[in-house]
Amino acid sequence: MQILDGIKLSKEIKQEIKLKVESYKEQGKRVPHLGAILVGNDGASRTYVDNKIKDCNYVGFESSELILEDTITQEELIAKIQEWNNDSNLDGFIVQLPLPKHIDQEAVINAIDPNKDVDGFHPMNFGKMALEMETFLPATPYGIMEMLERYKVPTAGKHTVVIGRSRIVGRPMSILMSKNGNPGNSTVTLTHSKTEDLAKYTKEADIVITALGVPEFLKADMIKDGAVIVDVGITRVDDPTSPKGYKLAGDVDFENVKEKASWITPVPGGVGPMTRAMLLKNTLLAYNKNN
Ligand code: NAD
Repeated sequence: MQILDGIKLSKEIKQEIKLKVESYKEQGKRVPHLGAILVGNDGASRTYVDNKIKDCNYVGFESSELILEDTITQEELIAKIQEWNNDSNLDGFIVQLPLPKHIDQEAVINAIDPNKDVDGFHPMNFGKMALEMETFLPATPYGIMEMLERYKVPTAGKHTVVIGRSRIVGRPMSILMSKNGNPGNSTVTLTHSKTEDLAKYTKEADIVITALGVPEFLKADMIKDGAVIVDVGITRVDDPTSPKGYKLAGDVDFENVKEKASWITPVPGGVGPMTRAMLLKNTLLAYNKNN
């Protein structure tokens, strides 16, 4: 069994980006600029946004943060988005999800200029991804593709089973794994909560990508020997022995599954750090499109 080490790989990617930013500075150019909009003060969302800003500082990007009260109306939020759409100093920005219930997430995503949508959530970017055109890929699936590529995990002709069909992970993942390219060229089965006898599919899979958010859902008897296991799940579970009172659990029963797997991502330290690095790559792409 070999570990797909997202911490090591994301450090390499961030280092590559940092060197690029240094060369832009040496050429007297401005640096890439990422913005983040946070509505309300949800603890997890706050941490995600803080980490995005921290990553920008590390690689030398400029960053902007807009924190809005959770009482803001949808119209006011969209007006802010339009200001940022028109700000030529900003290469790309994200609106941290989830949004308060009174705001229509769809309307907000649709209001972002697709050329600045570095999360890759706008329908235009999703469509371009499905058509295999160059665009911003959603960061988590993008990070998994990058990981499979850099670790040279073969995917062509393999059977990939994705568990979960969310629009930010499972569904785009299934599209990317079936694309005509490397990584890709897989035969993909997309499974979800209504799939009957899910183990029937996972037992036949060469690659299993779990994105459902159910701790230790994938057991060793659900996979075949030598399968590649990519665990996207992150769930906080109570842990009185930890100072925080909780630990992060993946969707995979790691201790038992690792004995049968050929490659496996740990949680934490697998897909999560790759997701963070890919937002930086998308920002760099936006910057290059703008210049
Ligand atoms: P989601 O809740 O939007 O979607 C979950 C999907 O899992 C649904 O499509 C549902 O049909 C499917 N599902 C639920 N129970 C199932 C079951 N018993 N059998 C089969 N399918 C089932 O979730 P999401 O946003 O895609 O996130 C999934 C997990 O990945 C969560 O734990 C989330 O925290 C984590 N996540 C991690 C990263 C990262 O960077 N590592 C990024 C995004 C999400």
